[in-house]
Amino acid sequence: MTINETVNKLKNGETTSAALVKELMAVYEEDKKSSLPLNAFLEMFEDAVTKAEAADREIAEAKAAGTLDKLFEDKPLLGVPFAVKDNTSVRGHKLTCGSKILEGYVAPYNATVIERLEKSGAIPLGRCNQDEFAMGSSTEYSSYGPTRNPVNREYVSGGSSGGSAAAVAANQAVFGLGTETGGSVRLPASYCGIYGLKTTYGVLSRWGIVAYGSSLDQVGILGHTPKDIALPLYAMSGEDFYDDTSADLPNKDSLKNLEAYKDFSSLKIAVPKQFAEAKGLDVDVAKVFEDTKAWFEKKGAKIEIVDLPILDASIASYYVIALSEAASNLSRFDGIRYGNRVDAGKGYDELYVETRSNGFGPEVKRRIIIGNYVLSEQFSGTTYKKGMSVRARIQKEVAKLYESYDLILCPTCPTAAFKLGQKVDDPLEMYLSDLYTVFVNLARITSISVPAGKNKDGMPVGIQFAGPMFSEAKVLSIAQAWEEEHK
Ligand code: GLN
Repeated sequence: MTINETVNKLKNGETTSAALVKELMAVYEEDKKSSLPLNAFLEMFEDAVTKAEAADREIAEAKAAGTLDKLFEDKPLLGVPFAVKDNTSVRGHKLTCGSKILEGYVAPYNATVIERLEKSGAIPLGRCNQDEFAMGSSTEYSSYGPTRNPVNREYVSGGSSGGSAAAVAANQAVFGLGTETGGSVRLPASYCGIYGLKTTYGVLSRWGIVAYGSSLDQVGILGHTPKDIALPLYAMSGEDFYDDTSADLPNKDSLKNLEAYKDFSSLKIAVPKQFAEAKGLDVDVAKVFEDTKAWFEKKGAKIEIVDLPILDASIASYYVIALSEAASNLSRFDGIRYGNRVDAGKGYDELYVETRSNGFGPEVKRRIIIGNYVLSEQFSGTTYKKGMSVRARIQKEVAKLYESYDLILCPTCPTAAFKLGQKVDDPLEMYLSDLYTVFVNLARITSISVPAGKNKDGMPVGIQFAGPMFSEAKVLSIAQAWEEEHK
């Protein structure tokens, strides 16, 4: 169900929030017994039922008082259960980032995004699987088993927010929260056939989210429709005292009642040659992309191929920067402050080494090693600083492009979802899944992945509509126009 459908049913008494939550919990318990478990949720929050019952009481009281519409005006997400990624703090609940090192850690406070969603009535239903510390593109790097793709369980769900994406796609939650450092919301949205939005850097507070690459990290939203993304975005966005990089979102009010974009004849779209002609682009994805371009042209939009050679360096720049920041950020997991500890009683150094050797999985270790190598005195000039200057150029050239165009159109990923196990032992191959997504994070802009078609195996293919910084309202309304014609 969409948010609208859920809210309507809650309003007219067709269902209650508690009934909905209990039903979803039963589905989760059932799934655990399956021979090919989806494994979207790692845990359902027991207090979701209590919170749902409280929402039901509010609804009943407002009904009796004749103030139901006013109640939903103030709390537009009242009683709506949503999925949380396992790196986002929900007070009193476990948080592991898909890692063994954080086993047993309990979040002492709410992330700002959770606080704000709860304020608008939404119910955190449970925490969802992810690649360990959000490092990966398939959710196979989780210490708690992979999340399978609901469309076909032989395939990966994408990552790193694969659990949240699969939960929404399988109707195990109404909408979901993910996080992005380099595509981790858009990629699983594309693989699972739903919508996934990465917001402009700063629009959603990072307070209470476990850091991966702080200059890139953003919360993202997964939903069945652009409207299902617009409402939670409305509820969560805006400046936050606890995150100095946070900023208000302009034109926020239009998100409350998202309307389909109409003015296509004045829409100018850029297609970077570097993506349209990329070597790794799968033929089925290329076909879906052509169809999407044709739709825009039929609606009257103007599409032009642009040449942006710097984009060829985006993967290299992204992995240098993300891994350097990750190596620094993850140094806080020292066996003293958070989660698991392995202490053989030999002193601090051993405790540190043992805890980390035992707690981190192989991909996280690889990245910490690469990050520290890149930051070491010997190489920081040639590697880290070079990565940073490439990023600055990407930012500048992308911003310049938006002086002449409204949108960048490109596939979300070079391929559709692949089979479980296919890339897990080939990190470079896995990193190349991020070919089209990371420039958005590097440039700090916003982009939505829309479900646009299927490949020959019936797996979904997503296409990105990417807009300049703070253009969320426009990008979402264009996606809404797409949705209304492609239900
Ligand atoms: N796949 C990318 C990585 O592994 C992006 C991950 C993310 O956005 N969190 O770094």
